[in-house]
Formats: sequence, C-alpha cells, structure tokens
Amino acid sequence: MIPGTDPLQGLLDAARAEPGRTLVALDYDGTLAPIVADPEQARPSPGVLDTLDRLAARIGTLAIVTGRPAATVVRLAGLARLHAANLQVRGGYGVERWDAGTGRVTAPPPPPGLAQARERLGGLLAAAQRDWPGVTLEDKGRALAVHTRRAQRPGAAYDALRPLVQALAADLGLRFEPGRLVLEVRAGGVDKGDALRELVAETGARAVVYAGDDLGDSPAFTAVAQLRARPGHVGLRVGVASSEAHLPADLVDVLVDSPAGVLELLDRLATALSAAPER
Ligand SMILES: [Mg+2]
Repeated sequence: MIPGTDPLQGLLDAARAEPGRTLVALDYDGTLAPIVADPEQARPSPGVLDTLDRLAARIGTLAIVTGRPAATVVRLAGLARLHAANLQVRGGYGVERWDAGTGRVTAPPPPPGLAQARERLGGLLAAAQRDWPGVTLEDKGRALAVHTRRAQRPGAAYDALRPLVQALAADLGLRFEPGRLVLEVRAGGVDKGDALRELVAETGARAVVYAGDDLGDSPAFTAVAQLRARPGHVGLRVGVASSEAHLPADLVDVLVDSPAGVLELLDRLATALSAAPER
C-alpha cells in the first residue's frame, strides 16, 4: 500500500488494475449472515448471493473462511446456486475446503482429543443446565461450540462457563477460542490467518480483502497486514462492529456496523470492477 492513501481507495485501485489477482475472503457468521439465536438459522440477507455472484465474476478468487464445517455454510448460504467456479469455502478455520468448481469438500481426519472433548462437554453442559438453562452445544465436526446466547442470562452464563471450557481444552491439548457468546474448543495448528496465507500463496493474489466480526478473525487481519507490507501488495481489513466482540481499533481499516454494511462494501467493489472484463 502506498503510504498516505485511503485503504479502501487503494484496494479499489489495485483490484481494478489486476482484478484476476484480487482475493476477497469473508467470514460467515456475523459478517455475511447476521448472528441469530439458532446457528442453524444463520442466513445471509436477500441480495448477498447476487452480489457475491457479481463480484466473483470480476475477481480472481472469492472465499468464505469460517469456523463451521464448509458443508454447513454451503448449505445455509445456498452457495451451490452461485455461478462462480472460483468460489471456495474454507471450513473448520481453514482445515476443510469446498470448491464450487467440484462441489466437493476435502478434509483431513478429525484431530485426536476431539472425541473426548465431545463427551466431556456433553457432561459439563448437562450439569450446567441446572444453573444456566438454555446453554447449547454445537458439534461442528472439527470443533465444539458452547453457545450461551439462548441462556436466560447469556453474559453471566458465558462468564461462568468460560474457565471450565478453557480448562477442559487445555487438559486435552486442544485450542480454546472464545467468541461472541460462544466458547469453542478445537484442534490447534490452524487458524484463519493460516487459511488466508494459503489462499494468497495458491492464487498469487496481490490485492486482498478480509472481512470479519470476531476475535477468531484476528489472525486473518494480521495476515492481511503482513501481506500488504510486501511491495506491490494491497490489503483491506473490514471489521463488523458488535457489542459482543470489541475488535481492537488498529486491527481493521474500515469498521461497518452490520452484515448490511459488508454487503454495501462488496457491492461497491463489484460496481468498481464492472468495467473489468468478465472472467
Ligand atoms: Mg464471525
């Protein structure tokens, strides 16, 4: 990035100059789809798919990088309906991969320790129902998520369960990932920053956008900052503000207030690129 330029304008200019080497990577929950009480109902607003289609037709690679299983996000968002062959979903924080071109998910076997965590978290939650009714466990396949959003007192339940889930993760050699009213346990070794670096290496992208709303997106924001320190590379970090996760101000370049703000920004990028030849 040229010092002194507005990061958004810098990205638009770079993407226009080399649309084929532009990568747009997006978190799903809270970024493309509003956070809702039941994670099975997290869907993007109407218009998101059209914009993603329009954008994908103009850039090198479009990716969704999520903690959820790739297949879940493909199903919830209806991504199979898109025309883009250059769309990928990196699930499980990047371990899994779904390609629109093949319609298949590839993934290594689940990490050891996770089966034990599943059993012990089940026991922990059964006991927790007495004090914190409404707390739920989401099995993401490669990660387990304790949600307190539907508890009677979500914040208090979160604070009470946090040390227990963290200790359980440490005990089993798994990674603990606190998020927006969700406490997650998963295998270590891969995060959204690794996923983003892999996408960049694979696609040769020089203009990179990443949008996310939660602390689990921090490694990806950091990866963008590292990438744009390289000559000839431009990066834009888009944060979605929420009352539940306070993204440090220096972690993002642009802060929008909801998934609607992300959509507006993607729409702006697609429009700016509409003069570029279609892929
Ligand atoms: Mg999110």
